[in-house]
Amino acid sequence: MKIGVIGTGYVGLVTAVGLAELGHTVIGTDKIKAKIDKISLGITPIYEPGLDDLLRANLKKGTLSFDADQHRTIRESDVIFVCVGTPQQEDGSADMSQIEEVSRLIAENLNSYKVIVEKSTVPVKTSSWIKRIITLYKKTPNDFDIASNPEFLREGSAVSDFLHPDRIVIGVESQIARDLLTKIYEEFGDRLLVTDIATAELIKHASNSFLALKISYINLMSNICEKTGADVEQVAVGMGLDPRIGKQFLKAGIGYGGSCFPKDIRALVKIGEDLGVDMTLLKAADRVNDDRIKLFMDKVRKALWIFKEKKIAVLGLAFKPETDDIREAPSIRLIRELLKEGAWLRLYDPKAVDNMKELVPEQSPKVVYCNSPYQAAEEANVLLLLTEWEELVRLDLKKIKDAMANPIIIDGRNCYKPDEVRALGFEYDSIGRQ
Ligand code: NAD
Repeated sequence: MKIGVIGTGYVGLVTAVGLAELGHTVIGTDKIKAKIDKISLGITPIYEPGLDDLLRANLKKGTLSFDADQHRTIRESDVIFVCVGTPQQEDGSADMSQIEEVSRLIAENLNSYKVIVEKSTVPVKTSSWIKRIITLYKKTPNDFDIASNPEFLREGSAVSDFLHPDRIVIGVESQIARDLLTKIYEEFGDRLLVTDIATAELIKHASNSFLALKISYINLMSNICEKTGADVEQVAVGMGLDPRIGKQFLKAGIGYGGSCFPKDIRALVKIGEDLGVDMTLLKAADRVNDDRIKLFMDKVRKALWIFKEKKIAVLGLAFKPETDDIREAPSIRLIRELLKEGAWLRLYDPKAVDNMKELVPEQSPKVVYCNSPYQAAEEANVLLLLTEWEELVRLDLKKIKDAMANPIIIDGRNCYKPDEVRALGFEYDSIGRQ
């Protein structure tokens, strides 16, 4: 069995490499030839811990290859994992044009029976559309099946998540598709959940929206903590000790970002509303998240009063640690707000600087990218911590204090202990605690 992977972004590349690591023969393709050229040389276009090594090892083994010719890749594959993007449109719904484009391409190249697997996050019932498009455009009598296998990897630990999954969800409507996918994931037989396709599609949106809801919930509690003197970190511990609630995703901060939660919750709201379902619950979670930057800006204003030409060190640009991904990162909105107010920014991130430079180009003295957190802190009037990278959690705060014009830290991720930071002579504000 040969497996094709279409779209070699964060999900597709990890999927291709991961499936090869599981022992399968895999070809990856993408519509961006430069990406395929780079990956074929063993260079990953994204930062994802462990991915480089695994890519090179599997290329060397010869079971993993990449081909910019999408037609050939499809024709040579028995099972095709579709991993293209499903970005958000203005009305909140998912833009399915990449999925449609790939469906037509598959139809054109349907030279044998194939199983087409939706790995991208798609609205429930998408498989019916893919089936319709392939049936409309195919030029041969060859048969095909659609299956859903939503991806649950987390950027920053994607390789490990792929190779050690909590669960593998497979949505199928034929025995052949069920058998093929069960074989592909044979190693995780004890963690397979096989459902119908619509259910599998919905499991992904339901999971992401629930996690986003959980984050917004603790952020809402942090707002109450700030007004009452309660400590959100301890509220989270107290809640998390209840196994029905669980400890994870109870971290108050400047809100969730990334290429999944914001778009997936909005897509599910749109799906529900189109079906006549009241989606107030998820809309509120989205609104709570949207307010995070406004509340954080209030903290910065409280510290600075006037923003104009104040030097602000911004540490952490990626939407979470261990990734270079800045899609929908809270840092983007904050940076834009700060620039609108006339502040001068000194930005640092261990991996995401190049991506941010494309969005917010260097423009000294208004926007300066720095090589270290200590350089960013030089002459700064305030330091904002936005991503809890290990490097930033373990800063030498004495060195930071010496570099700053005014020793003020506003910690958007509750990385430091307030007493310890204040003992060093900093003015310190964080989220949901005194
Ligand atoms: P991405 O933008 O990093 O990758 C998409 C890739 O598809 C790009 O390389 C792009 O060039 C390619 N592509 C687009 N149109 C194409 C076409 N017609 N033919 C061939 N290639 C094409 O996106 P991603 O983060 O990998 O996400 C992909 C899907 O997986 C989305 O639906 C997303 O919601 C879902 N997902 C993402 C994550 C994550 O953490 N990033 C996790 C789980 C699920």
